[in-house]
Amino acid sequence: MSEWEGSDPLVIVRGEGCWLIDSDGNRYLDGVGSIWTNVHGHAVPEINQAIKEQLDRIEHSTLLGLTNDKAAILAKQLVDIAPEGITKVFYSDNGSTAVEIGLKMAFQYWQHLGKPGKTRFISFRNAYHGDTIGAVSVGGIDLFHAVFNPLLFKAIHAPSPYCYRCELCPEKNHNHCQKECLTELERLIATNADELAGLVIEPLVQGAGGMIVQPPGFLQRVRELCDKYDILMIADEVAVGFGRSGKMFACQQEGITPDIMALSKGITGGYLPLAATMTTQQVYDAFLGEYRELKTFFHGHTFTGNPVCCTAALASLELFNKKQILAALPPKIDYLAERLGHIITHDHVGDVRQCGLIAGIELVKNKTTREPYIWEERIGVQVCQEAQKHGLFLRPLGNVIVIFPPLVISLDELKLLMDGIEASIQTICSNS
Ligand SMILES: *Cc1c(COP(=O)(O)O)cnc(C)c1O
Repeated sequence: MSEWEGSDPLVIVRGEGCWLIDSDGNRYLDGVGSIWTNVHGHAVPEINQAIKEQLDRIEHSTLLGLTNDKAAILAKQLVDIAPEGITKVFYSDNGSTAVEIGLKMAFQYWQHLGKPGKTRFISFRNAYHGDTIGAVSVGGIDLFHAVFNPLLFKAIHAPSPYCYRCELCPEKNHNHCQKECLTELERLIATNADELAGLVIEPLVQGAGGMIVQPPGFLQRVRELCDKYDILMIADEVAVGFGRSGKMFACQQEGITPDIMALSKGITGGYLPLAATMTTQQVYDAFLGEYRELKTFFHGHTFTGNPVCCTAALASLELFNKKQILAALPPKIDYLAERLGHIITHDHVGDVRQCGLIAGIELVKNKTTREPYIWEERIGVQVCQEAQKHGLFLRPLGNVIVIFPPLVISLDELKLLMDGIEASIQTICSNS
């Protein structure tokens, strides 16, 4: 806090495509997509126009006992693009609440099914599901979460399959790591199955944990384990949803359908706060009952299904179609892979990880021993500050440089981004 008081942060006053413009007129390429939300760039004419028209109709009306046209149309469109079998939508307004709702829904589901003992959750070490208390309880990043321990419910934490730092995987080999982690996961699930309501996972990539990419097939195996032991699978697609992985949703990369899916960040193209917790007919039906049965899901946020936010989401989905956003991704994903393949050769780059248009570059003090930079060195922050001189805005996760640009970034812009990152790593890490 003391440092923040003394600092002089950039003041962003305008956006143009993938660029942020500050109060002095400097331009920065938005390398982290305004914290992993931005899809179509900034100040997009089509989305702006849709929002303006909606404002002249109505700004907000409650979803308690009413609906609005935009929320209803969006729900239909979300179902159309969701994994097969996901057919119901419950709105809220940020990623943390989308996860909270998923947890409460899974919990109450088993109560209605006459299995009141199924009250616990299993999640992964190094996971991030948001900053509200329930989401923190299933989170696994000690730096963010440890101080709140006395406030949390006790979740079971399974190892995260990541051989670069995995304690179960001395061989540092992907297949071995995946096998060990799945064995341990199954042991934990089997031991606690009678008490488990659900499993929570960030599919394909643990985001805030450092852009940790799961081995191929892992998600499918997790789905199989949830089926085998009869627990609900909650997929937190808050970061990876809406095209990031190369498909609309990460679960679709492995052809699986979760029981509950949390969406937020990219849902409005990065414009406005909105979230959705989607689920199956099966979960929905458990809540279906007469008034006196009290099967109601008592959870409602004031601005749930706000029509201006839903309008932004509809305009974003229309652009996904019109501009064929997903079809345009493969060359960018390939180019990113090619550049990462070169960056990994740097003396202070220990690992590079990529999933679609998400990447993490892990900086290390010693490449051979994998000795990390100590956190006081703030190597990630230093590299990102250096990158500002190259006209980039980046925000690291500890020693990991994060790449998470708007999906519409051009190949030329992506080249600028990677050139700037490479040069900044060279300058900062070679001196430390
Ligand atoms: C950002 C994030 C959240 C929390 O979303 P907020 O809108 O910041 O509350 C939850 N889960 C994942 C995977 C995220 O990346």
